[in-house]
Amino acid sequence: MVTAAEQVARAVLQNSPFVRCFECLSRQVGLLDRAVREAAQVMIVRDDFHVARRVCYTCGRTDDVLVSGKGP
Ligand SMILES: [Zn+2]
Repeated sequence: MVTAAEQVARAVLQNSPFVRCFECLSRQVGLLDRAVREAAQVMIVRDDFHVARRVCYTCGRTDDVLVSGKGP
């Protein structure tokens, strides 16, 4: 059983160095936007990932994206 957090983490690492906004990321992993954000919270608390304001490479919008690694 793969958890939502694992799915999201895998997708983010797979996309790197490109980033996707939460909407595009949720579409990629096939989960609800809310589920992805909840999973992200867990990963952020663990300092495995952080949220940054970037341009999504899929839809081109500047939005909050999940990035691997500890935040600044
Ligand atoms: Zn997007």
